[in-house]
Amino acid sequence: MARNFEVFSGEVNLEKVEPLPEDFDPTAIIKDLLPPVVCNDAIVNGKEKKKEREIVLGRNVHTACLEVTEPDADDEVTGEREAYMASVLARYRKSLIERTKHHLGYPYNLDFDYGALAQLQHFSINNLGDPFIESNYGVHSRQFEVGVLDWFARLWELEKNEYWGYITNCGTEGNLHGILVGREVYPDGILYASAESHYSVFKAARMYRMECEKVKTLLSGEIDCEDFKAKLLLHKDKPAIINVNIGTTVKGAVDDLDLVIQTLEETGFTHDRFYIHCDGALFGLMMPFVKRAPKVTFKKPIGSVSVSGHKFVGCPMPCGVQITRLEHINALSRNVEYLASRDATIMGSRNGHAPLFLWYTLKPERVQRFPERSPEMSQECTLLEGPS
Ligand SMILES: *Cc1c(COP(=O)(O)O)cnc(C)c1O
Repeated sequence: MARNFEVFSGEVNLEKVEPLPEDFDPTAIIKDLLPPVVCNDAIVNGKEKKKEREIVLGRNVHTACLEVTEPDADDEVTGEREAYMASVLARYRKSLIERTKHHLGYPYNLDFDYGALAQLQHFSINNLGDPFIESNYGVHSRQFEVGVLDWFARLWELEKNEYWGYITNCGTEGNLHGILVGREVYPDGILYASAESHYSVFKAARMYRMECEKVKTLLSGEIDCEDFKAKLLLHKDKPAIINVNIGTTVKGAVDDLDLVIQTLEETGFTHDRFYIHCDGALFGLMMPFVKRAPKVTFKKPIGSVSVSGHKFVGCPMPCGVQITRLEHINALSRNVEYLASRDATIMGSRNGHAPLFLWYTLKPERVQRFPERSPEMSQECTLLEGPS
């Protein structure tokens, strides 16, 4: 597991982080107790006390909350407050540095340096609406978004004039969108997903009130196509919408896309009776670089693929990419007059900074390093899967 951490998180470049000034004493101006730098243990009267972290239902936990300070007419007080806020932020930054160093257990690539993009932080960039239609809102980054989408469409082998997609807020949004497209194409379709699928897939089933069949998995975490076949045969009269995992969250298992398609065909489901969404949140971007891995491509009868931007790619804010076939999106979209755009996304306003980060990170030098990292990552999965 230790190697796992190295592979996923990379080196955090701490040299680039400016140290706090030597004479900086945050406690000098702090009146209220601030949250401790690393607060896995509770601090009571200056003594550390081990505390089990528990999930309390029905009650919001407010132990680590910083109050919003109200503006004040008195200049002296305002000055004091600004100093206080600066010290809170400085300590928060320190705790982020500390926590990033010990980042473990989440498959995030933290090897990034986006200094060049700092100059854009002052702008409220919003890509609301459809990425391919100019809307009324001028402060957008659509030109970057579409560039990134073109890159992914090429990666998954779909022609420029045949795909549609957008940069989402996270992998979950990609799943919510992919499954919605499937549902709009086949309104009476049944959703099939392996038991080890991400919780967002089952959330989609609940949100859209879809009938859902949870399919068993093999020891490796891959979908069990024998069980899939049995479940398909129970509902031969209804179209099938299938979530295929390109890397499950816990075991990193990659469902055998070819076997899933073969199983559908053998059970009598013709290509116009099923829709496959590939949840590539974890490895969707990596698989094309791994030799002998099941290939994710729109040359196969799949409907959509989504990935997370903040996992393998490494992006300082949550984001994701969703790509689907243009023909499907027309079934789903509505025109919105006041935006002068089309509504085909899950969210309305969309983070316009995320496309800039993705566009910047997909530069050739960095992408060229993906293959080096991919085998290590997939080897890690084999170790986790064990012999099967
Ligand atoms: C992380 C993950 C998601 C959800 O992605 P978020 O960006 O956290 O919303 C979906 N599917 C899989 C397999 C994941 O690992």
